[in-house]
Amino acid sequence: MITHDIIVIGGGLAGMRAAIGASKESDIAIITRTHPVRSHSGAAQGGINAVIDERDSIESHWFDTVKGSDYLCDQDAAEILVREAPFNIYQIEHWGTIFSRTVNGRIAQRPFGGQSFPRTCYGADKTGHLILQTLNEQLMKHDIKIYHEWTVTKIVVIDGIVRGVVAYEQASGEFIGVRAKSVIVTTGGAGRMYKVTSNAHVCTGDGMALALKAGAALKDMECLQFHPTGLYRQGILVSEGCRGEGGYLLSDDKLDLNSPISIQANRFMKKYAPEKMELGPRDLVSRSIWTEIIEGRGINGRDFVYLDLRHIGEKKIMERLPQVRELCLNYVGVDPIKDPIPVQPTAHFTMGGISTDVNGISPEIEGMFAAGECACVSCHGANRLGGNSLLETIVFGKRSGENASKYAKTHSLKAFPTVEFKDELDRINRLLENDGNESVSGIRTELQEAMTIGVGIFRDEEIMKRAIDKIRELKERYNNINIQDKGRVYNTDLIGALELENLLILAEIVAVGAYSRKESRGAHYRNDYPHRDDNKWLKHTLAKFTPEGLRFEYKKVNITKFQPQERKY
Ligand SMILES: Cc1cc2nc3c(=O)[nH]c(=O)nc-3n(C[C@H](O)[C@H](O)[C@H](O)COP(=O)(O)OP(=O)(O)OC[C@H]3O[C@@H](n4cnc5c(N)ncnc54)[C@H](O)[C@@H]3O)c2cc1C
Repeated sequence: MITHDIIVIGGGLAGMRAAIGASKESDIAIITRTHPVRSHSGAAQGGINAVIDERDSIESHWFDTVKGSDYLCDQDAAEILVREAPFNIYQIEHWGTIFSRTVNGRIAQRPFGGQSFPRTCYGADKTGHLILQTLNEQLMKHDIKIYHEWTVTKIVVIDGIVRGVVAYEQASGEFIGVRAKSVIVTTGGAGRMYKVTSNAHVCTGDGMALALKAGAALKDMECLQFHPTGLYRQGILVSEGCRGEGGYLLSDDKLDLNSPISIQANRFMKKYAPEKMELGPRDLVSRSIWTEIIEGRGINGRDFVYLDLRHIGEKKIMERLPQVRELCLNYVGVDPIKDPIPVQPTAHFTMGGISTDVNGISPEIEGMFAAGECACVSCHGANRLGGNSLLETIVFGKRSGENASKYAKTHSLKAFPTVEFKDELDRINRLLENDGNESVSGIRTELQEAMTIGVGIFRDEEIMKRAIDKIRELKERYNNINIQDKGRVYNTDLIGALELENLLILAEIVAVGAYSRKESRGAHYRNDYPHRDDNKWLKHTLAKFTPEGLRFEYKKVNITKFQPQERKY
C-alpha cells in the first residue's frame, strides 16, 4: 500500500494543473495511464480563449459562452471561467508557453466559432502540445511524483468519504492500493463510445464511470459535442483554426473548384448562419453539414463536404496550420495548399461529466474532486465553444488542486480496509478467468455503431429506444467476454475490457438522458422535438448509481445574469 495526501488520476492538462496547484502544501502524486505528455490534451490544435485585448470584454466572453451553451451552463461557473482566463493565460505564458505573436509582439488571437471578438490565443496549430510541455516542466520543477502507465480501476469510497484508489501497474502486472485523503479525477472525455471520433484511444471515460460507481453523480451526459470537421472516415480533427483563418465549407451543388463564383455559391453555411457563416457554433455547423449530406449535396453525393483552405495561401497555412497540413497529407493524401479537404462531423467533446461545484468539489463524496473534460462544473452547458475547454483545464484544474490541498490539510487519513482491495482483485481475477464466447472488440464495435446511429447528431425517440435496447443487450453480453491474454504484465486486453465496461456504463447514461430530454438544446438535437423548451427542460440531468440501478434526477440551472433568449447566429 502506498500513501499520499492527494492522488490525481490522470496526467493531462487538468491533472497537471491540479497537481501544481496543490503541490505547495501537500504530498501529491499523479497516477496516469499514459505519460502526461502523451495525454489527449496534446492533440489540441486551435487555441485557448481569454480576453486580453482592450477592445474585448469579460462580459462579452461570458455572454458568448452562455449563449453558446444554449443557456444550460451555470452562469456562475461560466463567469469564473472567463474572469480567471487572462491571469491563467499570462501565467502559462510566463512559465514558457510559446504563443504565436502579432507584429507588435503581443499574444496573437484568432476568431473561433460563436465568438463576438477574435479571442482565441494560439501557438500555430499545436496549442495543446505547447501548454502540455510547459506544465510538464512545472511538474518536474515541483518534483511531483508521477506513477505513469498505471491504470486506476477503482476509487475506494466508504460511508461517502474517499479512502484512495486501486491501480494496475502495467509494467509489473501488480495491482496496488493507494491510500489518500483526497482524490482529484481528471481522466478526460469519452469520445471512444462513437465510431468516428477525434478522441485518442485512451478517451474511454474511465474516471466518470469509476466516480459514478463510487457514488458521484454525472451531469448532462446527453450533451455530447460533434466537431464539424473531422477527416473523412478517420475522424481525426481538422482544427476550427482553419475556419478561424478563413476556410470555407463547400457542399456539392454543381461545385466547380476552379470557379470563384461557384465556390462562393456553394458556401452552404449562408443558409444556416448567415451572419457567422463558417464560424457559427459547432452544434449548428455539424447539423448543417449533416443536413447537406442527407439531402444529397455531399461531395459527389457521398457523406462528406469540403473544407477549402486554398485561398488562404501557402505562407499562412505553413505558418499557422502546419500540423493540419501534415495530418491531411498523412491520413487522406490531400495537400490543403492545393486541394480541398474532405471532412465530416466527428464525436469530439463530452460536455457532461462528474458533477462538481466551482471549486471542483463533488457534492456527493467527501474528499473527491474532479476537473477538466471528465468533470461537469457546468461552464459549457449543452454546447461548448471552441477554445473554452483548454481554458477549463487550467482554470478549474488550478481551483480543484488548491481546494483539494485545503481539504487535505484539515482532514486526517481515513482507513482503507483490505477487503476493498481484495474485492477489486477478485473482480479482476473473475474477469481474466471468464471463459465466455464474446470478444471485447466485437462488443465495442457494436456499441460504437449503436451510439453513432442512435444517439448521434440527429436523434429521435424510435432510434434512441433501439440504441438503449442494444446497449442493455451488450451489457448482458459483456458478462460473457473472454480475455485472451491471461498474463499480468502489460495486459492491454485486460485494460481494453475494463475500458469497455466503462464505455457501456456511460453509453446507457448518454442514451437514456437523451431519450428523456424531450427538447432540442445545443448539441442535443431531436427531430421529434426540434425546439428548445425552457418551461420544462431548463434543467440539468443528474445520473446516479443505486443498488436498484441507474437513477435520474434533475437540477436547476444557475442563471445569474443572462435570461434565456432565442439563439441566432
Ligand atoms: C483532437 C482534439 C483537439 C482539440 N482542440 C482543442 C482546442 O484547440 N481548444 C480547446 O479549448 N480544446 C480542444 N480540445 C479539447 C481539449 O483538448 C480537451 O477537452 C482537454 O485537453 C482535456 O484535458 P484533460 O486534462 O481533462 O484530459 P486528457 O488530456 O484527455 O487527459 C486525461 C488523462 O487521464 C489519464 N487516464 C485516463 N483514464 C485513466 C485511468 N483509468 N487511470 C489513470 N489515468 C487515466 C490519461 O492517461 C490522461 O493522462 C481538443 C480535443 C481534441 C480531442
